[in-house]
Amino acid sequence: MKDAREGKTMIRPMISRIRLAAWSVAIGSIASSPTCLAAETIAVSARDTVAPVEMDHGDELRFTLRNGRTVSMVLEGTEAAIVERVEPGGIIYRFACHVRIDGQRMTLQRFVCAQECFYEPYVVDGLRIWPDTVKAVFDLVPVRYPRDGNLRCRPRKAARFALQDAELRVCPQQTHVWLDEPHDFLDVGRCYNGDDCYLGPYLGQACHVGLDINHRAGSLLLAPIDFDTQAWFNSLAAGHNNNRWRGIRRWPNGDVWALQTHHLIELLVPQHAPLPVGTRYATTAGVHVGSHEHTHFEFKVGRRHPDRPLSAPDDPASIAWPIDFDDQSEADSSAAAPKDPEVLHLDPWVLFWQIFEDRKARHSELTAALQSLRPARTGEPIMFSAAGSRQTNSDRQFGYRWTFGDGGSATGPNPRYAFARPGLYPVTIVVDDGRQRATRTQHIAVSGPPVAGPALVLAAPDEPSFRLRPAAVADVYGGPVRSLPHTLTFVARASRPVPNDRVVAVRNLGGGELAPASVTCRGGAGAPAWLKIQTTGDGDRQSVQVAVDATGMNSGTYPATVYVDCPGAVNSPQPLTVSLEVRGDAPAAEVTIDDRDEGFYATPYFWVGHRFSRCPPDRRGNGGFYLSNGGSAPAGEFARFTSDLQAGVYQVSFSDATPFRPDTEFDVRVRHAGGEATVRCRPATSRRIGRFEFHEGADGFVEIQAADSRGLVIADAVRLERVGSSQLSP
Ligand SMILES: [Zn+2]
Repeated sequence: MKDAREGKTMIRPMISRIRLAAWSVAIGSIASSPTCLAAETIAVSARDTVAPVEMDHGDELRFTLRNGRTVSMVLEGTEAAIVERVEPGGIIYRFACHVRIDGQRMTLQRFVCAQECFYEPYVVDGLRIWPDTVKAVFDLVPVRYPRDGNLRCRPRKAARFALQDAELRVCPQQTHVWLDEPHDFLDVGRCYNGDDCYLGPYLGQACHVGLDINHRAGSLLLAPIDFDTQAWFNSLAAGHNNNRWRGIRRWPNGDVWALQTHHLIELLVPQHAPLPVGTRYATTAGVHVGSHEHTHFEFKVGRRHPDRPLSAPDDPASIAWPIDFDDQSEADSSAAAPKDPEVLHLDPWVLFWQIFEDRKARHSELTAALQSLRPARTGEPIMFSAAGSRQTNSDRQFGYRWTFGDGGSATGPNPRYAFARPGLYPVTIVVDDGRQRATRTQHIAVSGPPVAGPALVLAAPDEPSFRLRPAAVADVYGGPVRSLPHTLTFVARASRPVPNDRVVAVRNLGGGELAPASVTCRGGAGAPAWLKIQTTGDGDRQSVQVAVDATGMNSGTYPATVYVDCPGAVNSPQPLTVSLEVRGDAPAAEVTIDDRDEGFYATPYFWVGHRFSRCPPDRRGNGGFYLSNGGSAPAGEFARFTSDLQAGVYQVSFSDATPFRPDTEFDVRVRHAGGEATVRCRPATSRRIGRFEFHEGADGFVEIQAADSRGLVIADAVRLERVGSSQLSP
């Protein structure tokens, strides 16, 4: 019988026929999905430590939250694909789990060997999900060296997840920093060669069992939790080839954690003794560290065998579950299969995430939070809550902006919103204290028929801040929040006070027809004098024309939030923010816009880049970094370069530093003074995009499109050089 980890329900029912999710499979990817198999129901109840769970295709997880509600997750398929192979350098890969949560389809996706591997976990209907790995990864990454990693980390089923009630922590105890460092994020460039994040292909060859973090020899390690006991399991003193340490914690709920650190220099505490949280226990990163001084971290979770007696609890080697104390981790091991099916590896990132969250709370850092969501019905008004969001000491006004994944938006800490159509939606909150921003997203499954009456949303397909967030997107942990949702930003100055107008469409997601739209400013005070808003059209074909005029205004940023109201429509009124930046400095006539610059935007969780240290500097792109599309060409994914320019005619080209591949071609869309052009680019033949005229300001842009591309498309840097004066009137 298959093992259900919680053992509460073990159902081995009839053969289920699982319909195949329709997803596109990139070239070179490995996808697996069932046509017919024995589906299992795996019942897990929330406990106060994170639960590792493995699932096969067709299996249903029934996770009961602490409040008694059960979240259903069916695994419908998994896939893995190489995003980019850099030679020399390494491999970035991605994997995906196609699931149905509370009846609605969703894809959980991960990137490995890009900054995206340090991610904010998904939270769906109150269930926090870390997609740990899928078996298809181990078919994709060639297994050469070290062999054991692939065996020990390979899931026994199609996919492995770490799961927790979103209201609960990774563990019940407040954590302490593990590594003596001040910042609350990890940088993938510090993972040994940039490839030894958890299950990163070491030297492009085999999945690395743990997480390597580079730091100086002699750095300190501190106990992130209380340990019952701890000891070397390998040491130079005992004749092994390295110093490897393991701490054991047996939680009251029966789970046993093994946390390991390798390459230690000196142990600062007596072995085989408890170790309280926060204790400095070792100096590290100094023994057999290869080409970079680093520490190797591992995280394993086991369940105590109830029928196996517990012997002396102060002896790690005798703790009741066999935790392979004699294994030779990492580089030198014989290929040993896992000795106990109850011991599962997890990404140490899961624990680092909690460590960073705890420290941010101790330091009262700005935090966005939203109360756990539960599945909803179409048309049902849902009260959302930002309770738990944390304001800094700043006395500035605290703003809340929400988006609901369907084009809808709201302001304030407790908005009401109803979904017009069924689906699985990301609900995102951005909090802003005028100085910093923070964000958080949770997903909600919505069932039921589309609503019968009109339902209002605003759409602006060309504005990144209006882009619908795909449900599969996860956030990079600690990444900046560059813009507020549903915000139109205008750049103006005395020499061109009136930039181009923008248009926002008024859309109906429901039935019937929208009433005539009206626009009001917050508080009913009317729009500021610099802002002109007009509505045009009628019924479901209405739009809002937004114009600004900075004549006579001082330099500065001028925001205004207006509300578009269609009386009688669900979710009316809808907010829209206009931000006017009046600049005093001169615009550029010659500029290279790099992926790290403010004028760069790439659709998130699609364009990813490596930090492989073995990649020669002249192949790392402009500024030492670039993003790529992984050779996949879906519609709606793009990378845009915008700059504040002098008026004139410009030569537009790609940077000479970008390591384009010979077979690549793709469309570039240029918005210029006379309109728009789409240029098919083959950068191996020519790096020139063309000659275009731009007005003064930031109305124009150059945009690489993933749709209809061939080969590996690289988004790195675009160069604009003014070659002539303006021929059009401003
Ligand atoms: Zn390592």
